[in-house]
Amino acid sequence: MVTRTVMKFGGTSVGDLNRIARVAEIVEARARGGGGGGVAVVVSAMAGATNSLVELARGAAGDALHGQAFDDEYDVVVASGEQVTAGLLALALRRKGLRARSWLGWQLLLNTDEAHGKARIIGVDNPHFSAAVDSGEIAVIAGFQGVDRNGRVSTLGRGGSDTSAVAVAAALQARTCDIYTDVDGVYTTDPRIVSKARRLSRISYEEMLEFASLGAKVLQTRSVEMAMNHRVRVRVLSSFEGDVPGEDAGTLVCDEEEILEKQVVSGVAYSRDEAKFTLYGVADNPGVAAVIFGALADEGVNVDMIVQASARSEGRQNIVFTAPDREAERAKARLESLQEKIGYEALTVGREVAKVSVIGVGMRSHTGVAKTMFEALSGKGINIQVISTSEIKISVLIDASYTELAVRALHTAYGLDAE
Ligand code: ADP
Ligand code: ASP
Ligand code: MG
Repeated sequence: MVTRTVMKFGGTSVGDLNRIARVAEIVEARARGGGGGGVAVVVSAMAGATNSLVELARGAAGDALHGQAFDDEYDVVVASGEQVTAGLLALALRRKGLRARSWLGWQLLLNTDEAHGKARIIGVDNPHFSAAVDSGEIAVIAGFQGVDRNGRVSTLGRGGSDTSAVAVAAALQARTCDIYTDVDGVYTTDPRIVSKARRLSRISYEEMLEFASLGAKVLQTRSVEMAMNHRVRVRVLSSFEGDVPGEDAGTLVCDEEEILEKQVVSGVAYSRDEAKFTLYGVADNPGVAAVIFGALADEGVNVDMIVQASARSEGRQNIVFTAPDREAERAKARLESLQEKIGYEALTVGREVAKVSVIGVGMRSHTGVAKTMFEALSGKGINIQVISTSEIKISVLIDASYTELAVRALHTAYGLDAE
């Protein structure tokens, strides 16, 4: 069986023409040196380009931007950044004498659902695509974009080129998908805020899924989900190093069974995109929670931590939950419009909060992990507002101004600091 190669380059890796020339060198080394199985390359927009496009779309549509009547045209605008880099990289490869062509989402038939702005991939369905790759022509694919059932352009949510790459790897039955970025792997925590963070040589799909969904933006959550479902091994590598990665370069995201050295806690993640909602004095009747969270689901608000406790007054409850800060306005407006129906006394929304989480499959079989977390935070005088746990993670909500202090304290407390 031929082994096809799939590589993905993120925004900073294609940030300007020099960086694109560098990417062309890395791709050339793989194309000329590989096992002859064909190469597909997925690219993001140039660093900052998508943000500018989002601003432009917002300028044209105003506050209404995220209504269903707007989302499809929003996608037409924001998807354009990837078209530019796909063309530029194909040109740079041709200049080196290589055969290369660009593929846009609609040409690849990277089919998605109609959830514009955060579409889900259904499949990569162009029947001629794998033959084109096998012919030796390098496929340069615009990441982040697809086409919906009505033939309209769709996008996959911020950071979505990672998911494009894994989908292409699954479609080409590539054994690994190499994600090139501006760090040389997945670290025990964000190396930008903790200088003592250590690179993990391997991490399990499950842990990576938690890491990504709890804020480590190194891989989009859905890309990890898709890799896990299709058994694609993902390698995270730096595009700022040598042309051909060594055997143990970067981080391999793989099955738990492939990891010999297991830590109780593998890493610490954080997210500042959090808002805390408190509904005071909610009537203690059956069905109230269904009304609240049903309305938020209709509004497309992603609710995360939820705590319910009796209020001081008889027959009343307080309900606390968190949601992404960028969805806070929408959620607040909806809850206010339902005050009578829900029957709550007051609503407060705290925007200056952050969620800090510790993650590790070892938690399943070890006790005392929570105790270490709470002691480390109290040792720094950090107050915990909300706690939530799953089998392999513990998250706490804290005042946002303590985020870095908390991440560092936990990194040290679990023995993760590099020597
Ligand atoms: P790209 O543009 O290549 O997709 P991203 O900016 O999306 O890159 O993701 C890479 C960034 O993720 C790094 O620069 C790093 O700051 C951040 N990051 C957060 N948590 C981690 C972690 N645990 N390990 C590695 N990088 C992390
Ligand atoms: N360009 C898109 C973004 O900035 C997709 C990506 O980079 O993965 O979100
Ligand atoms: Mg990214």
